Amino acid sequence: MTIEHWIGGKATAASSTRTAPVFNPASGTRRAEVLLASKADVDMALDTAKQAFDSWSQASLSQRVKVLFAFRELVNSHASDLAGLVTDEHGKVLSDAAGEVQRGLEVVEFACGIPHLLKGDYSDQVSTDVDIFSFREPLGVVAGITPFNFPVMVPMWMHPIAIACGNSFLLKPSERDPSASMLVAELWQRAGLPDGVFNVVHGDKEAVDALLDSPDVAAVSFVGSTPIARYIHERASASGKRVQALGGAKNHAIVLPDADIDFAASHLVAAAFGSAGERCMAISAAVAVGAAGDAVVEAISAKATTLKVGSGRDAANEMGPVVTRAAKDRIVGLITSGQAQGATLAVDGRGLVVDGFEDGFFVGPTVLDRVSADMDVYREEIFGPVLSVLRVDTVDDAIALINANPYGNGTAIFTSSGDAARRFQRGVKVGMIGINVPIPVPMAYYSFGGWKDSLFGDKHVHGPEGVSFYTRAKVVTSRWPERHHAAQASYHFPTAT
Ligand code: NAD
Repeated sequence: MTIEHWIGGKATAASSTRTAPVFNPASGTRRAEVLLASKADVDMALDTAKQAFDSWSQASLSQRVKVLFAFRELVNSHASDLAGLVTDEHGKVLSDAAGEVQRGLEVVEFACGIPHLLKGDYSDQVSTDVDIFSFREPLGVVAGITPFNFPVMVPMWMHPIAIACGNSFLLKPSERDPSASMLVAELWQRAGLPDGVFNVVHGDKEAVDALLDSPDVAAVSFVGSTPIARYIHERASASGKRVQALGGAKNHAIVLPDADIDFAASHLVAAAFGSAGERCMAISAAVAVGAAGDAVVEAISAKATTLKVGSGRDAANEMGPVVTRAAKDRIVGLITSGQAQGATLAVDGRGLVVDGFEDGFFVGPTVLDRVSADMDVYREEIFGPVLSVLRVDTVDDAIALINANPYGNGTAIFTSSGDAARRFQRGVKVGMIGINVPIPVPMAYYSFGGWKDSLFGDKHVHGPEGVSFYTRAKVVTSRWPERHHAAQASYHFPTAT
């Protein structure tokens, strides 16, 4: 099977014949080839999107909302189809894939309220016979470049809002799990979205660079690893675009001795190993404070060893494989380096083989204790099922450790002390914070984004900042002089009279 692009309302092969393999990570077998677009293919898609923008940007709010509500219904009724495609190409278990579709759907629901979100301001009689009002207009063609780990949810952080605001959208999804985007494209069409408003172009660096350099792209939303996020931000900014580029993460969870250790351990294990640790909000560093250390390591190790790992299609499993063989080899290498650099291997997932899925890309849950900040396993984003435990003496040491880390995406604290929690929430330099909540992903009506090397650009995604990112303001100062005698024109800078 060859996965084509979606341009102008239909699947098309365009001109490039380059492809990349798409695997089923559980079986380790190739399930498809995906086309990789050339610059000419991207330009063709942009032409289509530009033409579609001319009429879509003029569609009334009522017309746009009708399409959005229909799209909401279709995503909802195809949620399990979307989740199945995610499981087959990403590997995460079906219940987790269904959760990602649900969180994407919530952004569609937020975007259904676009008439309210786009309301401007109006001030009457700011000067004699003069009124002032503001409204926001779409930007044009906007692009989304997205990672493999949430093939439905992360693009849905972007396109429902961009389209609701009146833009046309070009999605360049991850080439590792491209199929869900094709179903999403079909659902937009069935919802009544005019052809060309939502397009999918598959590809790699060549397609991405074509988007970054094209004068026809007004704004770029990117989610992926930090080195690529930094590159996208620099290159797209250099060509005058608006850019939001979300990067990688190293999320810490502090456990204080006054926490309910069993509660904390259950949540830590779920947050570290859910989706095989391939979440940008996964907890990858547990910071045990003072006397909590031994109890935390014991409790998380006990839970990690009982986790059911296997194919994501089997409802009994709690964790699936990682995305590629290369990812598996990199993760195994990092675990080995952690041990070599002095960490204690409390649970070792390196040798895991799943019956019937011997060629799958599985790594078992792994817990490394007594990790220090200079080890590779701490310095690198592992993006796999590995939980490192660091031990510190005080909550202030834990906050200092988090703040010294270059990433600032998410963090959490487990405690029964309101005072410690408040000190933490005010003291950490991190964008999203959980208090006894290990994965504090904001709801769709708030915006999502990290600090430091986890986000380049000014605006977070979805929620109110998403609406602001995909629109620009006009402020109109108006007077109708024929209604009254004309005011005297003056040559000084305008001031109210
Ligand atoms: P990635 O950076 O390798 O790829 C992301 C996108 O960039 C893909 O569409 C890919 O095709 C493209 N790309 C890759 N290399 C490129 C290059 N050299 N030039 C131009 N484009 C390129 O990321 P990934 O492995 O797909 O996803 C995992 C990463 O994404 C992790 O670092 C994770 O933390 C991060 N992530 C962050 C968030 C967040 O909200 N901050 C959310 C999800 C994932």
